[in-house]
Amino acid sequence: MDHLVKEALEGEFRVNMHDADSIQRGLISYMVRVVGHDPRSAGPRQWFMALAYMVKGILSERGMGTSRAQYGQDTRRVYYLSMEFLTGRRLMKHLLDFGLETNVREALDALGQDLDELAQQEPDPALGNGGLGRLAACFLDSMATHRYPGHGYGIHYEFGMFSQTIEDGQQVEHPDNWLQGGNPWEFVRYSVSYPVRFNGRIVCFKDESGRERCEWVDTNNVNAIAYDLKVTGYDSPVISNLRLWSARASTDFDLRFFNEGNYIEAVKDKTTSETLSKVLYPMDSTVLGQELRLKQEYFFVSASLQDIIARYLRVHEDLRLLHEKIAIQLNDTHPALAVPELMRLLIDVHGLEWDEAWSVTRETFCYTNHTLLPEALETWPIGMLEHVLPRHLEIIYLINHDHLQQVRFRFPGEMEVLRKMSLVDENTQRIRMAHLAIVGSKRVNGVAALHTRLLREKVFPEFDEMYPGKFVNVTNGVTQRRWLLQCNPQLSDLITEAVGASWKSDLTALHALEPLAEDAAFRERFNAIKLANKARLADHLKEQTGYVVDPASMFDVQVKRIHEYKRQLLNLMHVIHRYTLLREGRLDDPVPRTVVIGGKAAPGYWLAKQIIRLTCDVALTINNDRAVSDRLKVVFLPNYNVSNAEITIPGANLSEQISTAGTEASGTGNMKFALNGALTIGTLDGANIEIKEEVGDDNIFIFGLTTEQVTETKRRGYNPWKVVEHDADLKRVLDMITSGFFSPQQVNRYSAIRDTLFDGGDQYMVLADFRSYIETQAKVDALYRDPDAWARKAILNVARMGLFSSDRSIQTYAKEIWGAEPMDI
Ligand SMILES: *Cc1c(COP(=O)(O)O)cnc(C)c1O
Repeated sequence: MDHLVKEALEGEFRVNMHDADSIQRGLISYMVRVVGHDPRSAGPRQWFMALAYMVKGILSERGMGTSRAQYGQDTRRVYYLSMEFLTGRRLMKHLLDFGLETNVREALDALGQDLDELAQQEPDPALGNGGLGRLAACFLDSMATHRYPGHGYGIHYEFGMFSQTIEDGQQVEHPDNWLQGGNPWEFVRYSVSYPVRFNGRIVCFKDESGRERCEWVDTNNVNAIAYDLKVTGYDSPVISNLRLWSARASTDFDLRFFNEGNYIEAVKDKTTSETLSKVLYPMDSTVLGQELRLKQEYFFVSASLQDIIARYLRVHEDLRLLHEKIAIQLNDTHPALAVPELMRLLIDVHGLEWDEAWSVTRETFCYTNHTLLPEALETWPIGMLEHVLPRHLEIIYLINHDHLQQVRFRFPGEMEVLRKMSLVDENTQRIRMAHLAIVGSKRVNGVAALHTRLLREKVFPEFDEMYPGKFVNVTNGVTQRRWLLQCNPQLSDLITEAVGASWKSDLTALHALEPLAEDAAFRERFNAIKLANKARLADHLKEQTGYVVDPASMFDVQVKRIHEYKRQLLNLMHVIHRYTLLREGRLDDPVPRTVVIGGKAAPGYWLAKQIIRLTCDVALTINNDRAVSDRLKVVFLPNYNVSNAEITIPGANLSEQISTAGTEASGTGNMKFALNGALTIGTLDGANIEIKEEVGDDNIFIFGLTTEQVTETKRRGYNPWKVVEHDADLKRVLDMITSGFFSPQQVNRYSAIRDTLFDGGDQYMVLADFRSYIETQAKVDALYRDPDAWARKAILNVARMGLFSSDRSIQTYAKEIWGAEPMDI
């Protein structure tokens, strides 16, 4: 080592990435010069930092090339605004994208370090709740891979999604201090900073030219500081930027108090304003009307739009043509304040007329709707907006005034329609953010065919009628780079060997695998890989929970946020039913199963937490019952996040996608599992429907009521008691849950579950779908008994997943929504 260190420090600083020796010297050099640690005593943590800084150098170099090309070509830029980006760890992704894994591994070997161990040192940046944030990350990957000029904007949360442990069978939340050890990937741009204003009042006056102008004065200001993360694409010269804003107290704000001699107050306010980027709200598919959340939304929207306009003005002059050079995608309504904010900037700051500003605005924005659940639709109290963003409230009223004029014209005399379509809910005195986003956007998209249809027919039919062609569908997708290449290297190699490597940037190439489903030797290799991935998952489960599971058993997996609509409870009811059958010897030739359930519950979502607790109680009972032990195991996988997903998904045989029909907008977990060779048991919901169409009815297990049947059943007066009365198995399962069979220390523990199912009317139709689910699970067993038949279908699933790449989603957005072209670079 001594001579190596000497040599490295004497040698050239530039690293030749195609040469393991040069990489090795580069690592030593980064260790000394950037990490500041003696290579002779460095551990994996320090080597991770050295490697990350070295890769960061490449990111920066290449990023500048992209930037120059963008300004040079002046093609339309795409800005993706999202409160959440669930990117997962960066290191392996960059190495794979650059094709550097082998050389780096070799260089580290020579230094006595293991790349996989280093990669584990990186904290998983959990700047998102679940599907919505993960989608944003997949989209950035696909945009960079296919050379679109994409830019992400979000919040640099100091604390991301909480980490979850299970203590006494219950979820415990811990702060996710992901920046604690420093973040080697970020570029802090202290010079890229914008003031974001709150509160204050509006003064309007006539300027010299007699034009009415409004000014927003006496505001409380916070500065937004840019933190840039580079986003690589696979084998692509394009490096995109993800700009995350961090809140800093602005000095003007401090000074006011300071001058009054109140130094301590000034410092106190400094910390208050910095809470804006402190923590991610840990709720998925539900909203909480908190002022801090509203401020977070406005904070990142305002900073992003100021930045977007500044970039535009660097090379263009006329803001009336802004929409010809940019498109801004709103990831759900969280950034919908961008609509009045762009209006404000264009009118109050840049002097455009209202009509000019409005036509630019509605040609610039596009809005993605992510959910139909009423509890997830954002609305803000008028009083709160008036206090926090008085100018924006005025602008929203003006937009609404014009909008309602058009509604009156389109639906004359229809007061009910007018009331329904208004941006203001008069009953609750709240602003409807989805309506604001629809009115202010050129296109509105749903995220799966069914979801878009329901949006158009059930939720916003009048908007659809008034704006024909505005509502479009773009079915979600996932990036095959992370969700196959990175998380399942063995299957990736097998596929590449069989059909070539083009699937990595064109997933439809997987079609060529179809004939191999009939090839016994291929099936054998496919099965061996699945078994190895199951063994890896089994090790992980043992390490995380202490439970030992058999990789030869069927791995039946449901990992996603815990939510009533996702129906983890239905899954558990099947488990309990199976347990009773096993105990009574009523299952002939039982197929051994390991049921894995994982996911976080929002900290205030008590029923979701009860479902976690029930899972753990059921696991404790079943896993310790010798009578069934080799045939059924239940494990709750703690702290589901991207890194855990990368281990879990490749190890699944059966993918549980069992939401009540009409509730899951798309789902992307469903796509990741099928891509890794799991068969799906699912309802006709979200993208499951399209997955079924692609893989074929014979290669998926569909059960339960359809969306139309759910509506119809409820309309006729759904009676949960009736369902249970006619089904002795179901009654027994419920009795076991509610009589303390799994919680003998506290027999009433699950009375709330009984209450939602009965008095609460079983909103998510768990009881209604129970029988169909149980019957379908029996079909799953039957197929699993024939490993060859199972493998054929699993291979066909992989082969037919071509449609579900986020590359296809992005190409559709580019063509049908943004009008964006790939860069020439
Ligand atoms: C894909 C993914 C999700 C979304 O899963 P669904 O099953 O679509 O709800 C949530 N969390 C993580 C960590 C993911 O990787």
